Amino acid sequence: MRGGKVAGGAAIVAATASAASTRVACHSVQTVIVGAGTFGASLAWTLARAGEDVVLVDQFEPGDRRATSGGESRLIRCSHGGDALYTASAWRARTLWRELEDETGEDLMAEIGMAWFAQREDGWEAESERAMTAQGIPCERLDPAAAAKLFPSLGTDDLAFVLYEPEAGVVRAQRAVQALARQAVAHGAKLVRGRAAPDGDAALVGGERLEGDAVVWACGGWLGSLFADHVPLKVTCQELLFFDGGPAWRSPGVPGFVDYDLAMYGTGDLDDLGVKVALDKEGPPLDPDAELPAAGATEPAVREYLARRFPALADAPLKEGRCCRYELSADSNFIAARHPELERTWIVGGGSGHGFKHGPALAERVAGALRGGEPLPARFGLGHRDAGRSFRTAGSGAW
Ligand SMILES: Cc1cc2nc3c(=O)[nH]c(=O)nc-3n(C[C@H](O)[C@H](O)[C@H](O)COP(=O)(O)OP(=O)(O)OC[C@H]3O[C@@H](n4cnc5c(N)ncnc54)[C@H](O)[C@@H]3O)c2cc1C
Repeated sequence: MRGGKVAGGAAIVAATASAASTRVACHSVQTVIVGAGTFGASLAWTLARAGEDVVLVDQFEPGDRRATSGGESRLIRCSHGGDALYTASAWRARTLWRELEDETGEDLMAEIGMAWFAQREDGWEAESERAMTAQGIPCERLDPAAAAKLFPSLGTDDLAFVLYEPEAGVVRAQRAVQALARQAVAHGAKLVRGRAAPDGDAALVGGERLEGDAVVWACGGWLGSLFADHVPLKVTCQELLFFDGGPAWRSPGVPGFVDYDLAMYGTGDLDDLGVKVALDKEGPPLDPDAELPAAGATEPAVREYLARRFPALADAPLKEGRCCRYELSADSNFIAARHPELERTWIVGGGSGHGFKHGPALAERVAGALRGGEPLPARFGLGHRDAGRSFRTAGSGAW
């Protein structure tokens, strides 16, 4: 093993032993975490700041674009229809992201607000409003005329109302993941660069066998191939498009938005990236190890949507398009459970297009379960699941 540096400043140790190595070194630590996306890096930070021994392993540097957590921005919102668990989790995560900001002095979250366009009186938005109100989470119901003042142009003909979450916004995802890993290291965790394979209750990395009281596999889209018998995941290609809307569309100022029934979401122009607009229907399958393809297939559908919802952007120049992977469970619930046959092996993932924001809150739950505390929710269990309602920003459908 030898020392090095990763982008974002965290110390890294690269596993250098070759696959042909016959000597297998054993390191016994409290927790080995494979995968430094939002789920794994959040868990490393949570455990390390509590004084526990942690080794965090990733094949890439934290924040790498090939990982699902490697995008610039991810929405953070509490609306989850009537689901109390995810509503509370997002609200708790917001507090924890703020704690990470306090530790690092970095601006990792932008509270730009979030507008949910409701086409029905009794849909996802009304359920979300009830669930948030019950938990004391700020939200307000705006009539379409009042909501129109939030955007430079807004088509409201089809809207029953708009649910506004003033304290929702965006997590600067790539930077946040790098900060989580860096702070985990600052609290004593060891970061190892290498591709790991399960070996009984251990992780084999470049010829080294890493063991712990727990070995947590938080491997995003790769979980399906690592644990094929227990993790039925669908990995898909999803596009993000960024439009040049000019200064009127800058965020903060212009909020984020979700059209749940139309499966569209986005933000104003934050950090000069352009106005982000994405079709959230399930994209085509994509192997986790395949190159990310060029974006563009969704542009016609997105432009049709812009003409309807934000007419001033209908012909806005496209600044950039990007592809990213979803790792979808059938019912869009996360996966967080102990392996049924391996006592010390745990599996965490299934972000299903809405996992980023929850990272630190899910980590708290997982940390509790690792310590023998409250069991993880049954719906996060392994194995087959029936299709369910989407908790991401899409009410339905494939492209
Ligand atoms: C386009 C897009 C938009 C999204 N929008 C939002 C949003 O607005 N809000 C939101 O909350 N969520 C959103 N999400 C979902 C969110 O980004 C994911 O749920 C979350 O990032 C998943 O994190 P993860 O840690 O499970 O996986 P990842 O970030 O993929 O991390 C897994 C890590 O494991 C590593 N790994 C895998 N296998 C191995 C191995 N064998 N050895 C070593 N390392 C390994 C990988 O290198 C990777 O770094 C979006 C996702 C996409 C694609």
